[in-house]
This record gives sequence, structure tokens and C-alpha cells, in this order.
Amino acid sequence: MNFKDYIRVIPDFPQPGIRFKDITTLLQNGDVYKEAIEQLKALVKDKEIDVIAGPEARGFVIGAPLAIALGVGFVPIRKSGKLPGETIKADYALEYGKDKLAMHSDAIKPGQKVLIADDLLATGGTIKTSVDLVKQLGGEVIGAAFLIELTYLDGRNKFEGIDVVSLVQY
Ligand code: IMP
Repeated sequence: MNFKDYIRVIPDFPQPGIRFKDITTLLQNGDVYKEAIEQLKALVKDKEIDVIAGPEARGFVIGAPLAIALGVGFVPIRKSGKLPGETIKADYALEYGKDKLAMHSDAIKPGQKVLIADDLLATGGTIKTSVDLVKQLGGEVIGAAFLIELTYLDGRNKFEGIDVVSLVQY
């Protein structure tokens, strides 16, 4: 399956010069969405994973079904101020902006093996912050899985020692 046929590229969103990879056109096709999750599962199935953590909002769309497919739990990483319980926080810079990400303080137990999942790896800033959050709680990040990787931004080189997998590369 050529997933690129189902990903819409929108020029100059959310800012001039950004070519936004819109996965909503892939998600609305049930067979293609399912196949994408199954192929991601195949890429990580040999890893020992206790839990998947994914940043809002598109990290939920990839991470949660992948967690169900693998039979493990899911931990949401959210923008600051959204989670109701006690949280830990970390700063992050995006391809186009900056913010703070948060995770519930009791979401990951020390020693748990965590796979981070998101729709797209760009500069790697979001995932670097997600890794920081998992480490703050004593979890071990054993890998990161993405639907899309923008290889020209070289985000994966931010993660020495963390296995990065992706289904579609631009
Ligand atoms: P990074 O932190 O620079 O790696 O950016 C990745 C984050 O920004 C992910 O959470 C993506 O959802 C979002 N993002 C950046 N560029 C795009 C894009 O072209 N399409 C969809 N999401 C994007």
C-alpha cells in the first residue's frame, strides 16, 4: 500500500513555507488507517513494551490504536493545563512554535519500558520533550514510532540509543 496516496500535502499551513502533511485524508479511510496501524505494529512487535505514550492530538490517533493492537496501555502527553491530576512538565520547541507538554506524575512507573508514538517526526522537538517526561518519571524509552518522518529535518539524530521507526518518509 502506498500511504502517500492518502496523505494530503497542504502548502503554507499553518505558516507560509510549511508544507503540512495532512493525515485526516488517510484516517477517514478505514482500511488504510487499519493497515497503517498493523504495519506500525509489525515494526515494533519484537520490542518489549509496557506502555505507549503519545503527545496530543495526533499522537493519540496513532498511539492509542497501536496500544490496543499490541495489548498495552496508553499514556496521553498533553499541553500544559489540560490534565486534571498532578503533572510533571517540560518545555518544547516545534517546527513552527513553542509550548509546554505535561504528563500525569503517576502515569509511568519507574523501570517501565515506553514506546513513544506520534503521527509525524519533524525536527524531533516534540519527541525529545516526550522522552524527557518519561525519563523524569523513571521510565525507559525503548523506541519511537511515527506514521510520517520528514527525513530532511534529521529529527531522528536527536535520539541516540532510541530506535526510531516510521512508515512513510518525505
Ligand atoms: P517536531 O517536534 O518538529 O518533530 O514536530 C512534530 C510535531 O509537529 C508532531 O506532533 C506533529 O503532529 C506536528 N507537525 C509538524 N509538522 C507537521 C505536518 O507537516 N503535518 C502534521 N503534523 C505536523
